[in-house]
Amino acid sequence: MRFLLAVKCDTKSHLTVLDHDVCMTQCPDKLCIVFCPAEVYKWEGTRMQVGFEGRHECGSCRIGCPHENIKWEYPKGGHGIVFRLA
Ligand code: SF4
Repeated sequence: MRFLLAVKCDTKSHLTVLDHDVCMTQCPDKLCIVFCPAEVYKWEGTRMQVGFEGRHECGSCRIGCPHENIKWEYPKGGHGIVFRLA
């Protein structure tokens, strides 16, 4: 079967919110919910949930969080998104 995009998901997240207290006390607009095109981030009252399985690996959260509170790493070797040029 032909495809343009495929994902091999790791079991470990490559995205980490470093300090949930910063989200709660210093980021009232929860901007990652707005700027993430994959809707990976969801506020759950006291914690920012990260649904990393649905990410696009666009890297927007690396630069978008105003508090540098998201650690972004490449997925480990062999995992992540594969783009195929048709
Ligand atoms: S943008 Fe950064 S500080 Fe704000 S809620 Fe998201 S992870 Fe937390």
